[in-house]
Amino acid sequence: MTILRAGSATHVGQVRSNNQDSSLVAVDTNLFGVADGMGGHQGGEVASAMAVSLAAEHTADRTLDALKHAVRVANRAIFEKAGSDPELHGMGTTLVAIQLVPGPEGDEIAWINVGDSRVYLMRDDQLHQLSHDHSLVEDLVRDGRITAEEAKVHPQRNILTRALGIDLDVEVDGATLLPLAGDRYLLCSDGLFNEVSIDQMSSVLRRLVDPDEAAAELVRLANEGGGRDNITVVVVDVIDDDGRAASIAQAQAAAAAAAEAKAAAERAADEEAARQAALAEQEAVGGAPEVVMDPAAGPVFADRASSLPESTDDYGAEGDDLYADLDRARAKRLTWRVLAFAAALVIVVAVVLGAIYYSESGTYRLAVSGDRVSLYRGSETGLLGLGSEYMYDMPFTLSDMPEPFRTQARNGKEFSDAQAAREFEFNVQEAIDATSTTTTTTTTTSTTSTTTSTTTATTAPTTGPAGPSVPATVPTTAAAPPAVPANLRSQPGR
Ligand code: MN
Repeated sequence: MTILRAGSATHVGQVRSNNQDSSLVAVDTNLFGVADGMGGHQGGEVASAMAVSLAAEHTADRTLDALKHAVRVANRAIFEKAGSDPELHGMGTTLVAIQLVPGPEGDEIAWINVGDSRVYLMRDDQLHQLSHDHSLVEDLVRDGRITAEEAKVHPQRNILTRALGIDLDVEVDGATLLPLAGDRYLLCSDGLFNEVSIDQMSSVLRRLVDPDEAAAELVRLANEGGGRDNITVVVVDVIDDDGRAASIAQAQAAAAAAAEAKAAAERAADEEAARQAALAEQEAVGGAPEVVMDPAAGPVFADRASSLPESTDDYGAEGDDLYADLDRARAKRLTWRVLAFAAALVIVVAVVLGAIYYSESGTYRLAVSGDRVSLYRGSETGLLGLGSEYMYDMPFTLSDMPEPFRTQARNGKEFSDAQAAREFEFNVQEAIDATSTTTTTTTTTSTTSTTTSTTTATTAPTTGPAGPSVPATVPTTAAAPPAVPANLRSQPGR
């Protein structure tokens, strides 16, 4: 079972006379939200209060879709109230909310957004903004017409492109994520992020563990930064996630350990190679192969430490010959190194052989025997002893082939793949066909090609030699994945 803990804070700020923000902390339904109302008189307050209470009322089913639906119900209600009450005419509100919902792989966090309040996720010490503002400046930034820095001071930064209560229906952004223990969701109105930098927010969320304290500190910083708008903050912590974070951490640790072991084996192989080279050099110089100081052995005490007896060992039996123990440990270490070196060598050889085989098996070439032209796979030299493999005869003879194809065939033309060989065959055939339409001679030695060329000539005589309409191979490279942190598993639902 996933357990959430929330804290919140709100403040009118330093300039405004009333607080038109509303927040929602519904622990029993695990629903949390922030709404930022707008509209003269009491309009803004009414709209934001309606948004959070109606959203809470209409999320009977705990799903992302139900949450989105609840927001649309709230939108309709606010819209109708604004139309029926002249005092409230033109009121509207933003709304961000998150809710814990059951998913196929356990609990999920569903988030929704309309307007320019925001939902952030603090995970692995990084603050990610999950929602996109529905504001004019956001559109300008997205279109590259202003920078993010310019957006912060843009005179029209308060203009929204989407809000609740403005139209009959509204489009609601939203997605779900898997919650991990340690995640912190931050929901806030623009009164926070217009006064407090992302770095400041991150710093507070790292420093203050209690969500109420963190929310209060964020509000305090916004007031300190000017407090030009109402400020509302809800912090929701994922306390327990059914051990999901722990199992992910375990998997990551195992992967890291495997990578480290691989690196260590490679290092050992390198050291062993260096040692063997030093030995060989010494022998070449003529000196007796005395004990060569292992360059990787490090301080003498390193060996001593590694040979400390296990706690279960019989100290008495080994205590009298400490040096024998040292030697054994050293010999054991060397044995492992030799094995690691041998393993690395095998891998290198396998990779090289594989590369050669791959290039060999992918190479095609023509071979001429008398008047016969055949296609072989593999190079003529037969590196690796693979030799070359006969594939098939060309449907034309050497004497049929016009130049420059004939010379190319004689020289054993090579192709990088079977497709290239077929293209060559196609081109030659085209050239032969083109020739046979203009000449009326038929030779008895090339019956196959004559038959082929005459039929082709009657059906398609004007193909021409220069137009091999061979389809280009389309690269099947997959599109690059979006730059979302790998472990966020976001499901955009716009
Ligand atoms: Mn605001």
